[in-house]
Amino acid sequence: MKQSAARAVSARQPEHEVVIIGTGFAGIGAGIRLRQSGITSFVMLESADDLGGTWRDNHYPGIAVDIPSSTYSFSFEQNPSWSRVFAPGRELYAYANHCVDKYGLRPHLRFNTRVEKTVFDADNRLWEIHDQQGRVMTARFVVSATGYLTQPKNPDIAGIDSFSRPILHTARWDHSLSLAGKRVAVIGTGATAVQLVPTIAPDVRQLHVFQRTPIWIFPKPDAEIPWVLKKLYERLPVTQGSARMATNISTELIMVLGVVYTKQMKPLIKTVEAICRQHLKNQVSDPETRRKLTPDYGFGCKRPSFSSDYLKTFNRSNVELVTDGIEKITPTGIVTKDGQEREVDVLVCATGFKVFENGNTPTYKVYGVNGLELGQFWDEQRYQAYQGASVPDFPNYFTVMGPYATTGASWFAMIESQMAHIMRCITTARERKATWVEIRREVHDAYFAEIRQRQLSTVFYNNHCAGSNSYYFDRHGDAPFLRPSSGLELWVRSRYFPIGNYRFS
Ligand code: NAP
Repeated sequence: MKQSAARAVSARQPEHEVVIIGTGFAGIGAGIRLRQSGITSFVMLESADDLGGTWRDNHYPGIAVDIPSSTYSFSFEQNPSWSRVFAPGRELYAYANHCVDKYGLRPHLRFNTRVEKTVFDADNRLWEIHDQQGRVMTARFVVSATGYLTQPKNPDIAGIDSFSRPILHTARWDHSLSLAGKRVAVIGTGATAVQLVPTIAPDVRQLHVFQRTPIWIFPKPDAEIPWVLKKLYERLPVTQGSARMATNISTELIMVLGVVYTKQMKPLIKTVEAICRQHLKNQVSDPETRRKLTPDYGFGCKRPSFSSDYLKTFNRSNVELVTDGIEKITPTGIVTKDGQEREVDVLVCATGFKVFENGNTPTYKVYGVNGLELGQFWDEQRYQAYQGASVPDFPNYFTVMGPYATTGASWFAMIESQMAHIMRCITTARERKATWVEIRREVHDAYFAEIRQRQLSTVFYNNHCAGSNSYYFDRHGDAPFLRPSSGLELWVRSRYFPIGNYRFS
């Protein structure tokens, strides 16, 4: 048995050391770290014909980051040219391209390559990556960077297919369609609608916003960055570093500490909720509209947003907040449960994405040792991964944003920490000439038990989340989107976990 395995190893060598799946910021971060570690034998696979992930796909009116740009960017590649504190989406797309060029990733990109499945060849200790066109490539390691919020979800409302006028999902915006002077319906009031609604309201004739669950809104301290400050950032990067430190701390306080340590820090989250309530009061004049916009679940149960113009849009005479449930969609409009029909010219679905469901996390099949399929395993046995990065029976396979990978403060902090973790595994394997790297089952299981214990202190179990309709929760009632830890802990554990937690052979 051992002899035949040895023969197979010599018979089949992988074409690439690493295959990265996805070219959003996670894939780009992975590529940068590989090159910085001297690994050049890798390709970056992308189903679309361009890079940039979220910032390629989302270009609806008003799109911008809602985490300050100084925080929402790589720590090692600060951008002194952001035009605003919260940069518009196109600048993020340009920044992605800048990083790809500056760090020499363009030759590694393979567009129009939609991965259908990856299969572990245990004899040869490599992964086969099959794309939808039937092509197969091989790699020693796979780094999966496919993101969570990539597959748009249209609402499953009766009659939606009968709507005879233009219908758009925000993640597939069609800029050739003008909304000027039209009657427009927006379904959904998540972070996307929060940016879209105030941007289109002044142009349209009538805007009906269909809200099922209100969203917590924190004031957004946005402003243009004056050219003097940009020059200072460019000439003296330490000044931008200080700005980043300040925005990191404030985002950590609002988006992480109160959410993760709710049980211990109730006053913090109550203070945040009070600020949001006061903000709503300052912005919306009509008490009834205010009541409808007030969440009846705790801050953090679902993704809150930052905005200083969304709430006050409901003071406009051409904007209506509709909270009666939707009964059906007709060829020309929307009928609510009270029987009223609103005729509209354009229907906009700001209805979000598939998240924790088999077929989305991950978006392709992953067959590990003994043919175990990762999506099915997660769906049946709960989402779990050691530090969000690795799962037993899936050797040499790493996820940048696996279950419980990210803290709420910054996607980029998550990418950098996850890549620190993954690079420790890959570089140790190379040093030891190991071709099989696998998280030890007992370490993984103990970590998952710890996560589940820690979950009990989070907002998800301590702040009336039942009515929040949050995509953070999966069908098991777990909340595997967020890592129940501070950003500092994420940083430390990804860089200093005992390397013996992995089995190298
Ligand atoms: P989302 O948060 O999932 O919100 C979807 C909205 O559509 C919710 O209000 C939901 O109502 C509603 N909805 C879904 N199906 C519906 C139905 N059948 N009938 C009525 N309403 C329905 O999606 P999103 O706003 O696109 O945001 C997704 C995520 O992208 C955010 O949470 C955030 O992480 C990210 N994002 C980030 C930024 C940024 O600046 N960084 C900007 C935008 C988005 P319920 O709440 O009742 O389910």
